[in-house]
Amino acid sequence: MQHFPIFVALAGRRVTLSGGGEAALAKLRLLLKTEAHITVFSSDPENEIETWAAEGRLRLVRRGMEPGDARCAVLHYAADEERIEDARTTALARADGALTNIVDNLGDSQFITPAIVDRDPVTVAIGTEGAAPVLARAIKADLEERLPATLGPLARIGKAFRRAVEVLPMGRKRRDFWSDYYFGAGPRAFAEGGAAAAEETLPALLDRHQHARERDGHVAFVGAGPGDPELLTLKARKALDTADVVIHDRLVAPEILELARREAILINAGKEGFGPSMAQNAINALIVEHATGGAQVVRLKGGDPTVFGRLDEEIDAVMSAGIDWHIVPGITAASASVAALGQSLTKRGRNSGLRLVTGHDMKGFADHDWAALAKPGEVAAVYMGKKSARFIQGRLLMYGADRDTPVSLVEHASRPDQRILATTLDELVRDMDAADLSGPVLMFVGLAPRAAQDALASPEIQSAQEMA
Ligand code: SAH
Repeated sequence: MQHFPIFVALAGRRVTLSGGGEAALAKLRLLLKTEAHITVFSSDPENEIETWAAEGRLRLVRRGMEPGDARCAVLHYAADEERIEDARTTALARADGALTNIVDNLGDSQFITPAIVDRDPVTVAIGTEGAAPVLARAIKADLEERLPATLGPLARIGKAFRRAVEVLPMGRKRRDFWSDYYFGAGPRAFAEGGAAAAEETLPALLDRHQHARERDGHVAFVGAGPGDPELLTLKARKALDTADVVIHDRLVAPEILELARREAILINAGKEGFGPSMAQNAINALIVEHATGGAQVVRLKGGDPTVFGRLDEEIDAVMSAGIDWHIVPGITAASASVAALGQSLTKRGRNSGLRLVTGHDMKGFADHDWAALAKPGEVAAVYMGKKSARFIQGRLLMYGADRDTPVSLVEHASRPDQRILATTLDELVRDMDAADLSGPVLMFVGLAPRAAQDALASPEIQSAQEMA
């Protein structure tokens, strides 16, 4: 960033401008929006400048600038549109200590004027370091369209009421009041009765907020989906948008955490498979602690919170603390992974049921009804199965599963680095070792990627195929 944007206080301060033509007019139209004392030096000013001078809105000096003319000025605009004269007035103003701008000369200017969207007191300044004025104009036009004209008056009215709102405690209560005003009661009143109505609505609104019951804490158990932010539900986005506290898993992608309200506190309660982790009891306590303090807590879990998420333990803790809660479902890793394979989870004539199993549980490798899983046509989605692949392979073979049973692994399903590994029960461990899977992996026993189905069935291709 070569130019640092700041807003300069100009009320009661001096600004000088040399020039009386088009460039001078354009800058003066902007400067006249401020409360600066403006002095214009020009021996041949446009009529409009004469009029402004006659109205007392600026002081017009009908000659070129001389040494000392910019004394006490904070800013000077060289707007004569003539290289030598612009350099001369700039040097004079610099000697007097003003910051200088030469119109249409970025390199020799000490400051530049951005494109402005004016919803005073809300002001948006757009700068492109001179790289693309077209872009600045397009952004300005876009914002002009998006920011309603009532934003300015609403903000002005709101600003005048700030002192009164200090009766509300700082933090959420005040924030709730202001968002109610700016996004609800304010625009509504303005639409009905203009500025006067917006002003009148404030005391009643404050009264309502002052006497409203303290908002109770709440916990939303929200599914963050498999990783792709576009696979978040709208409800999940809304919950993130209003959260005070977000307690998330390690699996939740940073792009998704970015969607949380800017003021929200983000807490990583990540668990590493078999590795060090925050104890479940500590997570339960953390959720309860924040919600008891009145916070809107989002407990954000990868995939769907109801699938291998230890959700029930957290709900039990929240319920015994008497806190309200609800669940926002998400897209589970199995759904995202089977989509990557181009397959269905269930298929008429192949499997009329599907098992979601975990590779390990609290005691270690998890036991299952291996005899049932080993039957031809069965499909199991194995979560957390990376470390227990050898155990699963051994058990299934022991219970009579076909060595050629297709097995697919999807790593980082739905993310840009998604990988698919198609193998068989026989080759599973060897192929996994070779593939060096370091991310989260979902394993399907009994499913091959659609494209690889035929190839795997043909005898000449025995080993796994890695697909992009
Ligand atoms: N609640 C989650 C599962 C949590 S258990 C869900 O519904 O998806 C964690 C396991 O989920 C991981 O070990 C891995 O097996 C699987 N998993 C989660 N996200 C995944 C992803 N993007 N790709 C592949 N597997 C994933």
